[in-house]
Amino acid sequence: MFDLSAYNTFNLTVYAQEGRVIATPEDLAQPVRGPFIILGGGSDVLFTEDFAGTVLINRIMGIEYGPKLDVHGQPTADDNATHILVRVGGGVLLDDFIATMIAEGICGLENLSLIPGTVGAAPIQNVGAYGVEIGELIACVEAREVLSGKCVTLTKEQCRFSYRSSIFKEQGWSNLFITHVIFKLPLRFTPQVNYAGLQSCEFKNAAALRARVIALRTEKLPNPKYVGNAGSFFKNPYVSAAKVAELQAHYGTVPCYLQSDGRYKLAAGWLIDQAHCRGIKHGQVGTWGKQALVIVNLGGAKPHEVVALAKYVSAEVRNQFALDLVPEVRLYGKHGEISWDQI
Ligand code: NAP
Repeated sequence: MFDLSAYNTFNLTVYAQEGRVIATPEDLAQPVRGPFIILGGGSDVLFTEDFAGTVLINRIMGIEYGPKLDVHGQPTADDNATHILVRVGGGVLLDDFIATMIAEGICGLENLSLIPGTVGAAPIQNVGAYGVEIGELIACVEAREVLSGKCVTLTKEQCRFSYRSSIFKEQGWSNLFITHVIFKLPLRFTPQVNYAGLQSCEFKNAAALRARVIALRTEKLPNPKYVGNAGSFFKNPYVSAAKVAELQAHYGTVPCYLQSDGRYKLAAGWLIDQAHCRGIKHGQVGTWGKQALVIVNLGGAKPHEVVALAKYVSAEVRNQFALDLVPEVRLYGKHGEISWDQI
């Protein structure tokens, strides 16, 4: 049995039948029998029980610098280059990569500072924070089909990035092991400061914006090194203007953000708070007092306790708002990934 405690940031004691660390794409040549799942930092997963299969752990490292590009996307050596291509191993920690880029004078990723997990896992979820989604900065993704060993490269468009999702979450695509991500990153700093906490500040450079994002996150979110958690447990729901009007009539100010399709994004943390589920504790599991969207392991929690609390919170929100919260976290059971409705 392979102990997964160190491979899930919820810090749950769960086991897989077998665990394999993949340090190079060639390590995938060894055949995998039976069910398998792919893990990066384990920062976005909830194991609801032991897994009766093989866990492939992405530890492909390395950062390679490609050509600089001009405004037309053509390689250039001169000073008017606007972007650079950077190829990164899927096992590199995302935040280490961001720190390295900023130290090298390469920008674009600073709003994503301190997001846990690996570079290889980031496109799957299209991780985002403070108004930036990683998919915006990706040129293409290199992957291998675990069973056939076939190499595939998907362009940004083929990745079908959307809110906390991508093609890699769609049926038939989850057997792709992301070996490398190629980023197209700006060389000039253009601060993205639409979110509260960033708006009133002036940032001289990407390092200053990164420092601010780190301060905001540290103040509000539990550090998985000390408190087991998987970041935001639920996605923010998207609703109609009519639903927002209904909520405003009842609650007054409602945190909501107009989307390009005319719908509004509601803050799931606010819904959970209004449903009196912020900072609650059930056994060894709770919701975080400073951000109700985060479910935390208070020490020695069992998987079923996390599931029970998540179900309780979503039921309370449904009762109060007639809205369904859907997990952002991926759920794994005995035989592989499972849907929220299956548990
Ligand atoms: P917040 O400021 O309390 O806002 C609540 C939600 O409203 C956020 O989830 C955010 O959605 C949305 N929002 C806020 N300002 C917005 C704007 N100007 N335009 C559009 N949407 C806006 O949220 P918070 O908990 O402090 O989080 C701040 C950022 O950190 C968010 O981007 C959040 O996603 C990110 N975060 C990430 C994790 C993680 O584990 N990866 C955990 C917690 C928070 P979005 O989530 O779509 O940005």
